[in-house]
Amino acid sequence: MPDTLLPDTAMSITRILPGQPAAIAEAAGLLAQGHLVAFPTETVYGLGADATNAHALAALYAAKGRPRFNPLIVHVPDTEAARKLARFDARAERLAAAFWPGPLTLVLPRAPGCAVAPLASAGLDTLALRVPRHPIAQALLRTLDRPLAAPSANPSGRLSPTEAAHVSAGLDGKIALILDGGPCTVGLESTVVGLAGPQPLLLRPGGIAPDAIAALIGPLGLPPDEAAQAALLSPGRLAAHYAPSLQVRLGATSVDPNEALLAFGPNVPAGAAVTLNLSPTGDLLEAAANLFAHLHALDRPGLRAIVVMAIPDEGLGLAINDRLRRAAKPRAP
Ligand code: AMP
Ligand code: MG
Repeated sequence: MPDTLLPDTAMSITRILPGQPAAIAEAAGLLAQGHLVAFPTETVYGLGADATNAHALAALYAAKGRPRFNPLIVHVPDTEAARKLARFDARAERLAAAFWPGPLTLVLPRAPGCAVAPLASAGLDTLALRVPRHPIAQALLRTLDRPLAAPSANPSGRLSPTEAAHVSAGLDGKIALILDGGPCTVGLESTVVGLAGPQPLLLRPGGIAPDAIAALIGPLGLPPDEAAQAALLSPGRLAAHYAPSLQVRLGATSVDPNEALLAFGPNVPAGAAVTLNLSPTGDLLEAAANLFAHLHALDRPGLRAIVVMAIPDEGLGLAINDRLRRAAKPRAP
């Protein structure tokens, strides 16, 4: 599986193809094999990765050069596809009926058995979903027939792209293909509304006015302090809410029999109650793909702690260590 990803980083020039049916079919094929494809939506160009493929998602974070794992928006062709991934209540149904397809993202509780890899939502038990209106995005989603994770198609910290040329200026050589649909019409990002709790929250202002949303489901709250920072200033901080219930100890070189070991690389200390290896070969892309699933699997009642071996602070290792440091922060029992 990981070898299908290597050509994305080894390629020196990313092709740009007009978003015609043959190019859309090729893009869907590349995505299904785990490659990254940029495509137009009505808001900005998205950088797509198969949301069910953790390796493809790890490659997406690597291509954007994000220093942390922000939860991603997952794109689907219609509300019916969205209902398979997340739990819709009456508010979600009303907003979907009014604004989908369109520049609205709903954050909802994950459905049981949700096919989206945990890395897409940075380990959170919620999922951000959107149905884009753009005809190329629609055609791509219907051809692919899988949920597509897509943050804006720019390197971390740079402006969101509203033309294919902006995408290639930032990501040339790092992704398989760019579908060109001309300039985006909205040019603003989607409005993100949180519906995971009783109070609807405006998590990010965007292409749909909060008043139009409030008219349907009542006034929108602002997220509590830390979440406000997270949503408005630095989306990745949201993930601070995710932590295993066991204590987490970093940089372990030895392990006790009542501890779970999250290993990395070939030289693994023996003696843990249970061991899972992020990547026996020391591959950071594989480690990122496994991070949240392994943390969940090791978070077992009855054990004393999850101990984690050292992971190099480079490339995707930066985002992995960022997340692990937060999971290891002391917290109230
Ligand atoms: P972008 O990466 O530019 O597409 O932005 C994605 C936006 O969606 C950010 O503001 C994230 O904080 C927000 N988001 C994605 N998933 C979630 C989630 N599960 N909970 C809360 N906000 C989310
Ligand atoms: Mg962005």
